Amino acid sequence: MFFISILGFLCISSPVVAHHGPVEPVTMSKEEWKDKLTPDQYYVLRKEGTEPAHSSRLNEEHRNGVFVCAGCGYELFLSNTKYDSGTGWPSFYAPIEGHVETKTDWKLFYPRTEYHCVRCGGHQGHIFNDGPEPTGLRYCNNGVALEFIPAKDEDPT
Ligand SMILES: [Zn+2]
Repeated sequence: MFFISILGFLCISSPVVAHHGPVEPVTMSKEEWKDKLTPDQYYVLRKEGTEPAHSSRLNEEHRNGVFVCAGCGYELFLSNTKYDSGTGWPSFYAPIEGHVETKTDWKLFYPRTEYHCVRCGGHQGHIFNDGPEPTGLRYCNNGVALEFIPAKDEDPT
């Protein structure tokens, strides 16, 4: 009976997003992150920096697939939640549920909602209230903090 339950769980799991159970945190020292990441990735992911608008090739990424954290590879956004916000940053109306966490950021003169990868804590972007339906939210993401993995039936180039 136990095995049947496990099988049932596996079968209803999404084919795109693997369910790993409780997230195992990825923790690395500042030096280890500097070794693993490019300077631009380090600045955004570990220092909560923001890349220049229109600098990411992911703005033009329209294939079916999944966007993963450039720090640890955790799946953060599905391509069907991406839309063209016209801001110059890759934008999504919803993350994969439970895969990002938020906190309030006071870096500017007003509070903003920062969000980051739940597994490695890497900063991804900020949430705004001018997104499309069904959430009305805009997850304004730094392209350098993401990597795109095309679905198996997509052209890999
Ligand atoms: Zn991560």
